[in-house]
This record gives sequence, C-alpha cells and structure tokens, in this order.
Amino acid sequence: MAKSLAKTLFNAKPNPAHIALAELEKMGKLRCIITQNIDSLHQKAGSKNVIEIHGTARTATCLSCGKKFRDADILKMLDEGLLVPVCDRCGGLIKVDAVFFGENLPRDALSRAMDESIHCDAMLVVGSSLVVYPAAYISSSIGKGARANIIVVNLEPTWFDRIADVVIHGKAGEILPELVAKVKELLLSDNSNTR
Ligand SMILES: [Zn+2]
Repeated sequence: MAKSLAKTLFNAKPNPAHIALAELEKMGKLRCIITQNIDSLHQKAGSKNVIEIHGTARTATCLSCGKKFRDADILKMLDEGLLVPVCDRCGGLIKVDAVFFGENLPRDALSRAMDESIHCDAMLVVGSSLVVYPAAYISSSIGKGARANIIVVNLEPTWFDRIADVVIHGKAGEILPELVAKVKELLLSDNSNTR
C-alpha cells in the first residue's frame, strides 16, 4: 500500500480550494481548518492552523521504538527497494501517522477540533457528505449547537443542507476562490468607507 500510494500522496499539489482557504487565513478571516484529509495539501497551500483529525501521512512513526520519520525518509526507503519501511534504529515496522480503519483518532486533534467548533461563530463545511464520524458530529452537534452560522459548499445535496444557514452546491475549487474574491471586495469597500 505504501508503495502504490506514497508517491501520489507525497507529490500531490494543492488545488484552488486549498489555496483559497489559505488566503482566508492570511486575511484573518479563517481561524482554523479541521480536516479528515491526510495529504497535507492545506499546509502545502500555506495554511498554518490545520487540525488533522485522521492524522497525517507527512510523518511516520516506528511502531517498536517510536522514532519519527518524514515522508521523504519513507520515499527514500521505498526507492531503495524496501518492500516495507523499517526503522534504522531498531528494525521495527514504520507506519504513517494517518489513522487506519479501526484505530483510535488522535485525542489531541479531536479535542482541539471540538474546542474550535464550540467557540466559532461561523463554520464553512466544504466537500464533505458528512456521513463519517466525527466530522458529522463536530459540524452538526457542536457547530450548530453552539449557534454558529453553517455554510455548506458541496457538489451534491447532503442531509445537512436543511440545518445549514447557507448552502452552495458546486465544486469547492470554483466556489471558494469566488468566495475569497467577494470577501476581499467587501474588505476593500469597508476600508474605503472608514477612510
Ligand atoms: Zn524503531
């Protein structure tokens, strides 16, 4: 699995949606990103505060001694012909820090995600059908329960549309850059009004 996935995963490039979200953060309009993705594309796009509730494939850990590795270390091992990456310190098996089926979610990321959701005043839910726990729970029970405004951007309708405050059906890669352009426009007109 590592062999077939690693190159694609590690060499993937951010799309316009990732870039738009990074821009929103830079403008001070986005506090954090909570993601189920393990591909680090938000960080590659420039986002700083990213909470990865399914872990990340950017780093890996030796299951025996706990030594940490970077994605580049793993790629090198695979390139050198290793079928399964093993630790150079103890010979133990190395596993990416992404959560596999049946494993527990990282406790720290989860509690940060809950905390941010309780305290946010608006939540942008992007490209998720919201059927997978805990993302569904975080947005519906916590975000909505805390009376945050919920904005859904998704290609297909979801069960969540009826409790969202704003629903936009379309591609995130097209909608989010438009949203950012609109926010910029509003900020500019705000600035010129106060001058
Ligand atoms: Zn080890």
